[in-house]
Amino acid sequence: MATIGFIGLGNMGGPMAANLLKAGHRVRGFDLSEVATARFQDAGGTVCGTIAEAVSGAEVVVTMLPAGRHVEAVYAGEGGILSSAAPETLLIDSSTIDVATARKVAAAAEAAGMTMIDAPVSGGVGGATAGTLTFMVGGPEAAFAAAKPYLEKMGRTIVHAGGPGNGQAAKICNNLILGISMIGVSEAFVLAEKLGLDHQKLFDIASTASGQCWSLTTYCPVPGPVPSSPANRDYQPGFTAAMMLKDLKLAQEAANASGATTPLGAEAAQIYSLFAGAGHGEVDFSGIIRFLRGQG
Ligand code: NAD
Repeated sequence: MATIGFIGLGNMGGPMAANLLKAGHRVRGFDLSEVATARFQDAGGTVCGTIAEAVSGAEVVVTMLPAGRHVEAVYAGEGGILSSAAPETLLIDSSTIDVATARKVAAAAEAAGMTMIDAPVSGGVGGATAGTLTFMVGGPEAAFAAAKPYLEKMGRTIVHAGGPGNGQAAKICNNLILGISMIGVSEAFVLAEKLGLDHQKLFDIASTASGQCWSLTTYCPVPGPVPSSPANRDYQPGFTAAMMLKDLKLAQEAANASGATTPLGAEAAQIYSLFAGAGHGEVDFSGIIRFLRGQG
């Protein structure tokens, strides 16, 4: 069993670290929040007072932080992972961050003699707790192979997407599709309501026709056709509109930097920004249908 340093023990990192503990690993954790560290301690983890303490003696370090600036500070800042961990430590960043920062930090890790992968996840807090996350991994083949046994303790589907930053690229491209398709499906239901076409009828037809997609068949934004979708529980998340907005903004940032044309992505980001700005950031992202109906 390995010694693992875990930085960022929040809503996602907390249960991910708990699953590594359950698998028998020794986990040394650090977080700025006392609520997060107390929960980690209850799960059997060793709470450390600094990043350096958490990564000392660790063969593997996992980070699960809010955004690129936190990742850069935790890795490359004073007293950060790159100046504290032993050479050859395997570094796994599972935060969802911008591709440019992911590549910059991976290059700094390589220069410090460490191997790093970006391994953002989908599956939310439920998936983190159940150990069924999907990991999208960017980094060298050997690092992917070395990380896989650890990722398998926290997730079910582990995919290698290519070199450094490609895990983040896969995550934001997927969520670009998702953000746009949820608005498309919601628009279709709103139009159907105006035209007197039943929700269930539209679902039965579109779900077996060319309109079929995940936003319709798994996460249907109206109550009824898919009983497990958040629409059936007043749009409690799930995956919040604020999280969708974050990922759509990351996609737009990457599109601008790389010269990709993503007009629907830009529009989707704008629509989610208005929805979140009106106080609905913590509503499930499929609640965007309310915004399209003019309800919020
Ligand atoms: P969170 O805010 O609950 O957790 C982040 C943790 O990082 C907090 O406990 C915070 O105190 C800690 N932190 C921040 N700066 C730190 C520092 N310098 N040193 C140590 N700890 C620090 O967020 P979360 O929901 O766990 O999300 C984490 C990441 O996972 C984000 O990038 C998010 O986009 C991504 N993600 C979240 C979900 C979800 O459903 N929550 C799903 C997929 C991906």
